[in-house]
Formats: sequence, C-alpha cells, structure tokens
Amino acid sequence: MKKWSKRTQAVHGGIRRSQFGEVSEAIFLTQGFVYGSAEAAEARFVEAGPDEFIYARYGNPTTAMFEARIATLEGAEDGFATASGMAAVSGALMASLRAGDHVVSSRALFGSCLYVLEEVLTRFGVRVTFVDGTDLAQWEAAITPQTRVVFFESVSNPTLQVIDIAAVSRLAHAAGALVMVDNVFATPVYSRALEQGADVVIYSTTKHVDGQGRALGGVILGTKAFIRKTVEPYMKHTGGAMSPFTAWLMLKGLETMELRVRAQTAGAEALARALVADGRFARVIYPGLEGHPQHALAMAQMGAGGTVLAVDLGSREAAFAMLNRLRIWTISNNLGDAKSIATHPATTTHQRLPLDQKAALGITPGLVRLSVGLEDPEDLLSDLLG
Ligand SMILES: *Cc1c(COP(=O)(O)O)cnc(C)c1O
Repeated sequence: MKKWSKRTQAVHGGIRRSQFGEVSEAIFLTQGFVYGSAEAAEARFVEAGPDEFIYARYGNPTTAMFEARIATLEGAEDGFATASGMAAVSGALMASLRAGDHVVSSRALFGSCLYVLEEVLTRFGVRVTFVDGTDLAQWEAAITPQTRVVFFESVSNPTLQVIDIAAVSRLAHAAGALVMVDNVFATPVYSRALEQGADVVIYSTTKHVDGQGRALGGVILGTKAFIRKTVEPYMKHTGGAMSPFTAWLMLKGLETMELRVRAQTAGAEALARALVADGRFARVIYPGLEGHPQHALAMAQMGAGGTVLAVDLGSREAAFAMLNRLRIWTISNNLGDAKSIATHPATTTHQRLPLDQKAALGITPGLVRLSVGLEDPEDLLSDLLG
C-alpha cells in the first residue's frame, strides 16, 4: 500500500471485504459482536485481533476501514475516528495531559479549540500559554521542559496564517513535547505534516473528507503506540466514537476528496487573483497569493493555498450587505464543502471572543471567510461582485 499514490490509496486503502465480496464498503450498523463461546469472549477482552471487535464505542469494521484508509493516506501508523472534529481535538488533548502539565498553543484558533484549551484544560490544572504562531521567537520563549504538548492549526481559521510545522516541531522536540497539528485547512491532500515533524495530526472530517455537508466526524492520526495506548483507552471509555454510518460516508468522501480539493483550490486561487485585480475589497487574504505574509512557507509546506480565502469589506455593514445579496454562496459556517459558503466570523464562529482578541487576530468587522466549492469560479466571482 505504502508505494501507491495518495489518489489510489484514497480509493482502495484499508478495504476489507466480507464473505460476500461486496464492491462498495459494507456498513456494519451494529453496536456489538457475538462471541462463539465464553472463553472466546474472555480472550477477546484480553486482546482483540485485527478482525475482532467488542463494542462499537471501541471499534467497528466500517470505522476501522475508514481509520486504516485515512491513516495510510496521511502516512500515519494508525488512527482513531471520532464523532466530530472537536471530539478529536479534545480527545487527543485530554488523553495526553494531566494536572501540572503545560501546553503551548498558537492563539489563532477555531473558536471551539480555543474554548477547550482556555476553559476546559485549565479547569483540570493544565497550564496553557498562547503565542503568535507565526513568531518562532514566541514559541521558543514559551516552550519549557514542563511543556507536554504543543498545539496549533497549521493554517489558522479564519485569518489563514500559516505556521511552520518543521520549525515549531524542532523547538517542541528539543523540550520533549508532543506536537499536535489541527490540519483542517491543509487537508489530507496537501498535508505532509508527519514528515515535517508533527507527532499527531487531527482532522475535522466534517470538512473536506465528507465535503458534502452530510455528517460530523473527526480523526486523530499518529503512531500505533500513541493511538492504541494513549488515545484509544480515553476515547473508548468516554464515548466519542464515530458511528459506522458516518464512517461509510467518510470512506466514500475520501474516494473523491483529491479531485474535489484540487478543483476547489483552483477555484479559490482564481477567485483570489480576480478579487485582487478588481480592487474593490480592502484586503484579500489567501496563502496562494504572492502578497500573503507566509506565501513562501505555504508553498513549501503544502504546495498550494487551499480551498478557503478571506476578504475584508471594511465594515460590518458592507460585509452584511454583500452576504445578503449572494445567490450562489450560502451563508453558513462549514468549510471544504461542495457548496461555496460565506461566513462572517466576527458575529458567528468567533462571536465569543472579546473585541481586543478579535482585533489581535485580525478578525475585523468587515472580514468574510469564503470557502470555495465546486461551482464554476466565474459564477462565484460574479455573485460576489454583484
Ligand atoms: C471545523 C473545525 C474544527 C471542529 O470540527 P467539527 O467537526 O465541527 O467538530 C476544529 N478545527 C478546525 C480548524 C475546524 O475548522
């Protein structure tokens, strides 16, 4: 499997067929599994073999196929599928940390990630230091021998700052810390996070993996030891498992993910360039544009700018006026979807942040996040320009 390209792995990786030889992956909608004898049940609870399952909260054949496929794609030894992206983020953190541990995180985070780090972990005696993720000197100053985990979004939501995975990983590893990357915006298509130094890669599979707005999901990817010894015991007892039906949707999503993500990225880049040329928006933020502050890093790290851009219309009134006259773009808060989605972060996904923090992160009143879907980029452009 290892030698096949990502595109092939996304279609065939992890497949296990039942005795019926079905072409499409089977959905095992079962909460549990039958044992042939009392002795067999006992043996399975001691150690389950690769084709042996106990209870769907621990694992399920369809979910296991999805875990194997996305782990192979990412180049990870193993993965654990979760009920949502946030179940993956909170699960990976809670499974790895205990009272007294220290975490260093970039401040530019998805609102719910910020909540988990700022409000939840600190309640259990974990110290959290936030840094400007694009400033290596701040990472270096914050990471100490007490630092157990370093956490960041490789491309931040919604302002699209790009963080240097290799450089931050070098600093973290020198202090013996584990590097966890929330890699949603990079997508599994452009990610090389593990070879660049990350220890753990996390996806909300709600985004590009499903990519069709059907289901919530997430996955934690890492070494076999980390997934099975640290993550699995926590996840299987706390109940954040992915449902088998969702795992099937995600398996099907992976089959078309590369085609979708490449087409959406081409659309995002074309739109970003056209909006800059048009000149009517105060700012156009897209890592694929030469004027983006981390453009060179984005190209070296991912080789592409991704499927999301952001524009600043100068004021909340101008942003709302544009949102309210869009006919193709939908006002919603998902991203990576086949349908193009426009979001006003300041009043929705990042509403909770105090004004000074919004300002510090560049979440201005006029900022609109644009997740580019699979429609014709020309239609998307004329809809935006009105
Ligand atoms: C959406 C998102 C999440 C949360 O994922 P859910 O599937 O909505 O729980 C976490 N991190 C980032 C960067 C996201 O974009």
